[in-house]
Amino acid sequence: MYGDYTCLDCGRTFDVPHRWTERHGFISPPYERNSCCPYCGGDYARTILCDGCGEPITGDYVQIEIAGKRYCDQCFLMRSLDENEKG
Ligand SMILES: [Zn+2]
Ligand SMILES: [Zn+2]
Repeated sequence: MYGDYTCLDCGRTFDVPHRWTERHGFISPPYERNSCCPYCGGDYARTILCDGCGEPITGDYVQIEIAGKRYCDQCFLMRSLDENEKG
């Protein structure tokens, strides 16, 4: 299974982001970022699984609101081509 979060850089999924506190010697915020991908330190987002291929979507994704389904670029492109062929 996939984790709750997907790294946007390396594409791995995980349940618990790596967290730390970057105080820069100050007592109060702002802290610029205090969590990241535990594997590569990259940005991450909640895991969204493609309804076409079932893989986590790490890039842009397209949501078809009527169907309530989400597709990665590749699957959406394939669906678009299919629908165009059917007319
Ligand atoms: Zn990563
Ligand atoms: Zn897909």
